[in-house]
Amino acid sequence: MNAARPYAPRAAEPLVHREQRPADLLIRAAHVLDPRAGIDAPHDVLVRAGAIAEIGAPGSLEAPEGAEAIDGEGRHLLPGFVDPHVHLRVPGQEHKEDLDSGTRAAAAGGFVAVVAMPNTDPVVDDATVLRSLREAARREARVPVGFFASVTRGLEGAALTEMAELSESGALGFTDDGRPVHRAAILRKALQYQRLCGRVLALHEEDPSLSGAGVMHEGEVSARLGLAGIPSISESTMIARDAAIAGFEQGRIHIQHLSARESVAAVAEAKARGVRITAEASPHHLTLTHEAILERLDTRLKMNPPLRSEDDRRALVDGLRDGTIDCIATDHAPHAREEKEVPFEQAPMGTTGLETAFAAVYTELVLPGVLPLALVVERLSAGAALLGLATPRIAVGEPAAACLIDLAAEWEVGEAGYESRAENCCFAGRTLRARVLATIAAGAVVYRERAFALSAA
Ligand SMILES: [Zn+2]
Ligand SMILES: [Zn+2]
Repeated sequence: MNAARPYAPRAAEPLVHREQRPADLLIRAAHVLDPRAGIDAPHDVLVRAGAIAEIGAPGSLEAPEGAEAIDGEGRHLLPGFVDPHVHLRVPGQEHKEDLDSGTRAAAAGGFVAVVAMPNTDPVVDDATVLRSLREAARREARVPVGFFASVTRGLEGAALTEMAELSESGALGFTDDGRPVHRAAILRKALQYQRLCGRVLALHEEDPSLSGAGVMHEGEVSARLGLAGIPSISESTMIARDAAIAGFEQGRIHIQHLSARESVAAVAEAKARGVRITAEASPHHLTLTHEAILERLDTRLKMNPPLRSEDDRRALVDGLRDGTIDCIATDHAPHAREEKEVPFEQAPMGTTGLETAFAAVYTELVLPGVLPLALVVERLSAGAALLGLATPRIAVGEPAAACLIDLAAEWEVGEAGYESRAENCCFAGRTLRARVLATIAAGAVVYRERAFALSAA
């Protein structure tokens, strides 16, 4: 990589998706909740040619000629969710997921944009791979997709990728997700380039020498089950180290999938010192603990970082509430059924999450009064701004990027299958509240719940 190379602003559009017919749609009398726009009341919302054309009192707007009318009464219209951390498994692992199925799952979960990680086969570590991936997304992706490139070649932690060239070719940021950037000197160098190309460096924090061969959280449950554990300090000590390096280099880092109390404290401390650091947490870490593994030794509950203790979970919820944790990210990690149908110790790590994200957080945290709905809605799209993307808003003139949700609907996860190609959802079998009825992304209707499609026709 040539350090003297001047940085040229990226021409490539940040997100790509396939062409779809722009929506002409009147959503009647839905409860519009957009915390950023300051709306929290029933409204008619008219979408014309894919953009929000008018917002009026319930019953005040007419569906123009050729526009479809949808009954939104008793339902919520929310700004669409943005997920800064998903695995779409393309290229090379299409038996787990592909661009079509992954973005179908996103749309079914109310997501209007997702950002895919580069730990694919081949790794997204050069501009040719990135460009062909973006071409494929232009043909196949139902919702806009952005791509991260890797920090190091082949995720091997040794040689940096051509970050400036990747950035110009459309990389939204850089990560070796699935692995940490273990060598401090490599991270330091990456941060120096990060400053030049202006993209975020997202970090999967884990010290392999502490994680060892662990398969779940190190604690009383792993002790009872006799399984090797991954201690919380595997994550938190790396966050502390990387925050120190980022502070020294004045680089910008984003911490992926926080899981432990000590990690929340490390991020809070770094923020207080003025380090340019942000963080995400997943719906599963916010709502489940390692106790679930005690109930059933289910490989769908095996992920990295692992589900931790109730005390850790509470710290994550508090961190999300007070802003230490900036956004919710699913870390949607699909695996084929036969890959997960093996003993717990041998199963690959990861859970799907796009289709259950909102319902899980709503059911477990909003309904019991732990978190306000408006805060959850805000955190589910806050990932956009962290990556320099436009944040979905329900406001006149904005491109339509929203989801219509029935908060009262109850459903059993997995009962009717999944839109994702994969079935490894950690919430499988649970009864959740809140169902996404329709999703509008980049101005087009990209998802309709089956029963709702019939009633709306
Ligand atoms: Zn990760
Ligand atoms: Zn991940």
